[in-house]
Amino acid sequence: MAHFELAPLPFAKDALEPWIGARTVELHYGRHHRGYVEKLDRLAEEDPSLRLPLDELVRKADGEVLELAGQAWNHDFYWRGLRAGGGGRPVGTLLACLEASFGGFASCQRRLAEAAKGHFGSGWAWLVLDSHDRVRVTTTHDADNPMRHGLAPLFTIDVWEHAYYLDVQDERARYVEAVIDHLIDWDFVLVNLERASRLRAALACHHAPSAGAL
Ligand code: MN
Repeated sequence: MAHFELAPLPFAKDALEPWIGARTVELHYGRHHRGYVEKLDRLAEEDPSLRLPLDELVRKADGEVLELAGQAWNHDFYWRGLRAGGGGRPVGTLLACLEASFGGFASCQRRLAEAAKGHFGSGWAWLVLDSHDRVRVTTTHDADNPMRHGLAPLFTIDVWEHAYYLDVQDERARYVEAVIDHLIDWDFVLVNLERASRLRAALACHHAPSAGAL
């Protein structure tokens, strides 16, 4: 039985049109993403020490295993952060948190867009929660992941060329803007934010010398 398996796409392959075409999703999910997962699974078949939960492997691995595990994790997270009819403006707790972190929602959108457009080469642009419970924008190269740098991922944009080249060729900015304006699922971001905050709070209580002092 496989240890690492490709999760089903959370939407139909043409669901993100016209922003991300069905052919892009077909190749990106069906070949690139599938390829990373299947290769990782073959390595795990030969080496039982790799049969860990995927996020644990992403934190610990290096070399080829990190490349495959990171790409497997990042792509799964990427698909789940997108939805048809997404984008727009979040509300409630999430909006308040983004405003507090960036000084305004427009500034959050702008920072994420600039990071994704400006990242040199292959990689990922992220919204993350840092250790001070602030939302930040960061980028990682190749298969790297913010969890390896003490940051909790909230959302990601794949900026490898295979994510957008069929749709907009070298115009990465058009893809990035479409993702932010039309596809980002803010409910997914909120779920990740709440989970990361709860984990932080639990760890803080656990480590605090006198938890009631604050
Ligand atoms: Mn990709």
